[in-house]
Formats: sequence, structure tokens, C-alpha cells
Amino acid sequence: MAPESSNVDPQEIHRFGAMSGGWWDPRGQFKGLHDINPVRLAYVKERAGLAGRTVLDVGCGGGLLAEAMARQAALVTGIDMAPEALAAARQHAADAGVSVDYRQATAERWAQRYSGAYDIVTCMELVEHVPDPAALVAACARLARPGGSLFFATVNRTPLAYLLVILAAEYLLRIVHKGTHQYHKLVRPEELTYWGHEAGLTLADLSGLRYNPFGGHTRLCRSTQMNYLIYFNNHRATPSRTS
Ligand code: SAH
Repeated sequence: MAPESSNVDPQEIHRFGAMSGGWWDPRGQFKGLHDINPVRLAYVKERAGLAGRTVLDVGCGGGLLAEAMARQAALVTGIDMAPEALAAARQHAADAGVSVDYRQATAERWAQRYSGAYDIVTCMELVEHVPDPAALVAACARLARPGGSLFFATVNRTPLAYLLVILAAEYLLRIVHKGTHQYHKLVRPEELTYWGHEAGLTLADLSGLRYNPFGGHTRLCRSTQMNYLIYFNNHRATPSRTS
């Protein structure tokens, strides 16, 4: 397992940092995230509620989900390792008059100070970008309060996902920046579920996300062959120790 401070791939941070001018362009390099954001938001809101909840958004990027959750009256903190992404997020929130606390940190580092602090932890489209995804899941688990909720979203490691999420979305349609996803780093739902269990979490729901990259239409579905969302409960009686 990677040491806590090293669960960061500098190339990933550099790449996301370099794209940061486009975070809030709904037709730009993050079009895919814009398209799926309302479904992600509804998924969290329907299962855990948002108004008045303390939420940590891990790997918040430009703040697409963090800001949307804050608009639902959640008390949101967003952490990310790319300073440029955080700057874009802060600027957009300020312009929109929405309050989100954006900080530069990894989940592992944040968990050293805020163990058990959050009603809800969201971690969307990040597990496929870190060297040790199991350690990331464990850190997210430490951050949720006993009885709290955790949400992960990512792309499955299947031939269909390779075809549609990488080849079509990145190379053909250019709605996801070229090189964003590396096939071998994609994560299967069984792997994510196993890491969650190892971290003391209970699987509450696993849903597929059907995204039509041509029209942008998105909805939940049964098949987890491409994008999917996972909802865990943290049933631990006490916050686990940070190691
Ligand atoms: N969660 C956002 C952004 C996903 S893109 C959304 O779905 O809208 C992935 C983000 O994770 C990028 O902004 C990148 O800078 C960040 N990131 C990559 N590795 C990280 C790490 N180890 N810790 C925190 N953030 C990280």
C-alpha cells in the first residue's frame, strides 16, 4: 500500500491543472462531467439528503459537483491536489455567490485532521487517477462519520467502456480530454466494493450510469458495464483511527 502522502500521481495533477481553464465550459473538455452531473447530484440527494449536511467532495476538480451540492444547502468542503482546479472552483463559486470551502489536500492527509467529520463523502471520477485506489477508499471511509454515507463514481474496466468511454468520448467526440483515462487503471465495481468492505463500509447500492456521448443524455441503469455509481453506508460505531 502506498504511504499516505504519496497516493498522488503528479502527471495526473499536472494534466488536470493544465485543463483548468475549461472546467466550467459545458461544451469543453469536461462536457462529459457536465452531462452526468445532474444525475450524480440527484443520486446523492435522494439517498443521503443534502440540506444542512456536512459534505466532503474528494478530488473536487473545478467544483462541478461541490457547487451543485452547496446550492442544495449542503455545507461543502472540496479538496483537490491541482491548485489550478481549485482556483477555477473558487472563482466560479465567488461569481455565483455560492459558499464552498476549497482546500488543497489528499483524502489521506485530510483524514488525519478530520476523521469522522462528515455526514457525506463524495469521490467522483477520482479512483481511476490515483496510484493506490484502495488506500483512497479507506481514507474516504475514515472521513465519514459513523452512520454517514459515501458515494463513488467511476468507469468500469470492460471492453465496452474502452470502446465508448475512451475511444469514442476521448478520441472521436473529444468530449473528454484525450488521455484522461488509462484502461489498466479503470476500476471494476467488485474491486471498489471489496475495498469498501475492507474499510468497514456496507454496500447500499450499485447503479450503472447510461451516458449517451452523442446527445449527452444521462440516466441510471442496471448495467454497470461503463460508468457506475456506488453508495456505501459507514456502519462503524466509532471513527476509525488514522494510521
Ligand atoms: N470530482 C470532480 C473532478 C474529477 S477529475 C468531478 O467529477 O466533477 C479528477 C480530479 O481529481 C482532478 O481535479 C485532479 O486534480 C484530482 N486529483 C487527482 N489525484 C488526486 C489526489 N490524489 N487527491 C486529490 N485530488 C486528486
